[in-house]
This record gives sequence, C-alpha cells and structure tokens, in this order.
Amino acid sequence: MSKPLAFFKGDLVDIKNANVNIQTHALHYGTAVFEGIRGNWNTTNDSMIIFRLREHYERLIRGTRILLIDIPYDVDELCNITTDLVHKSGYKQDVYIRPIAYKSAEKIANLKLPELENDFALMIIPFGDYIDSSRAINCCTSSWRRLDDTNIPPRVKISGNYVNSILAKTEAVLAGFDEAIILNQSGSVSEGSGENLFIVNDGEITTPPLSDNNLDGITRNCVFEIAKQELGIQIKEKTIFRSELYLADEVFLTGTAAHITPVGQLDKRTIGTGDTGEITTKIQSLYSDIVRGNNSKYLDWCTSVQIS
Ligand code: PMP
Repeated sequence: MSKPLAFFKGDLVDIKNANVNIQTHALHYGTAVFEGIRGNWNTTNDSMIIFRLREHYERLIRGTRILLIDIPYDVDELCNITTDLVHKSGYKQDVYIRPIAYKSAEKIANLKLPELENDFALMIIPFGDYIDSSRAINCCTSSWRRLDDTNIPPRVKISGNYVNSILAKTEAVLAGFDEAIILNQSGSVSEGSGENLFIVNDGEITTPPLSDNNLDGITRNCVFEIAKQELGIQIKEKTIFRSELYLADEVFLTGTAAHITPVGQLDKRTIGTGDTGEITTKIQSLYSDIVRGNNSKYLDWCTSVQIS
C-alpha cells in the first residue's frame, strides 16, 4: 500500500498534517530553495530508481548558501531522509520528490535573512510525463526576459525565481504553444521555463553557458556526459541568439521533469525537419534507459530503493 508521506519538522508524517502557518516568511517572499527529483519505477527489479539524488542535494545546498538558509542536515543525511521517505511511502510508480529548504520564521515584516529561522521539508507525489516528449513540441520566444544574476541568481532553484518561469510558461500556453524559450537581459537565449536548451548543427552540439543566466541543470550535465561517452561529441558552451534557433538542424530541451524534449517549431518557424532530429533521438533513447537504471554503465547516477 502506498502512503502520501512528508518529512516535516524532523519527522515522517501524513502529508495532510505537514502544514505551515500563514505568516511563514517563504510564503510571502519566495525565500526558499527547492529541488525536483525523479524516482523512476523499475518493474524488473521492483525498485525505485532515484536519479542523481546526491547532485540534486548538492545544488540545494548551493542555493541555501546564497539565501543564508541553515539546515541541520548535510548531503548524506538528506539522501538518507529521502530514501527512507521513498521506502516508507511505498509507491510502485514514477514519482516526483520535492525537497524544500525555507525561511520558516513566522515574521512577515523582516527582510533580514540572518534573523529568520529555517526549516527543511520533503514530499513525494506520483508523477508521469511533464511534457509529451514523444513528439517535437511547439515553442514561442517569451516576451518575459530571464532574471539576471544581478537580480536573483538563476543558477540555483530559489523559489521566488519561479515567478519568472511561471509568467513565461503561462504566456506560452495561453497563446497555444507548449513551452516558452526565454531570452536573457542581453537578448541571447537563456533556457526554457523549466528546461535547459541545446542546439545541434552539422553534428555539433552547443548550449548557452551558465553565465547566460540559466539553471545549472542536472540533466544538462547528463547530456554533456552522454554526448561525450556515447556519441564522442564534446558539447560546446557558447552564447546562442534567437535566429540561430530558427536555423538550427535540431533544438532540444532538457530537465528532470521534461527529460529530453525535442523542439519542432519556434515562433511558427519549423526547426530542421520539424520532427525529432537524429542526435536528439539518440540522446533521448540513451537517457530514458539510464534514468530507469537500465544502463549498467550509469548505475552510479542511480540510487535504488527496494519497495516491498
Ligand atoms: N531550467 C529551469 C528554470 C528549471 O526549472 C529546470 C528544472 N529543474 C531546468 C532548467 C532543468 O534542470 P534539471 O535538469 O536539473 O532538472
């Protein structure tokens, strides 16, 4: 039997009882950092494959350093709390795991981070596809610009940053597109609303550097490794302009939720053939085996939790 549990104020509780007060600082100001981690159900081994668990917590800790959120757990302890929650929740299907380190202080008139108490919570929900990545999606260039590092650092998952992503995603969907591509303050390509972006030209793969104000994505890092190890391609980091997307052979997006998602159209211009390109297909198929623990070369990216 599966149970919707949460880790809240140091204990595993029914998610219905994991509630914060209306005065909680993070609710008012977005003063939190979170992660999105996938657990992929492996039917052959009756186990949950938590993908790149450690790397997600390393990024969470980087975020807490920026927001001065002190939590009493290190990366090892956070990994253990997570495997325990996954085990005791008992889900036998794909799940999404959401840790959040937040300013839990019930003080709404204080903007001084060191004076605000902190807490850490973790929850798990059943989760299928975020975007249908079996087909090439239809994107628009957002009229919203990506946050700059001089506004709020976009390289980590600060909760408040997501207002930027949510405005862009909402604009895209209301206009009939699947996803938004967001330009940074200098006008070059940053990323999707919840995904990093890559282009392919004549067999070369390029992505904007983190200094172009995108998230330090874990799937992005996987794609660097997979391209190098499996396709012999060294990915280049370089500023990319909007018109380069229109003219690329292939464009794809990457993210924990979105996996590897091909882009078939941008602003009504067809990219390449309009279908999933050759290199995107190869990376997509390798990645989908790797995240489920079905590629023995990449098992060090997988934390397996047996569910009885
Ligand atoms: N950019 C943004 C803005 C995101 O929210 C995400 C999802 N976490 C990504 C990129 C992809 O990051 P990751 O591969 O670590 O999930």
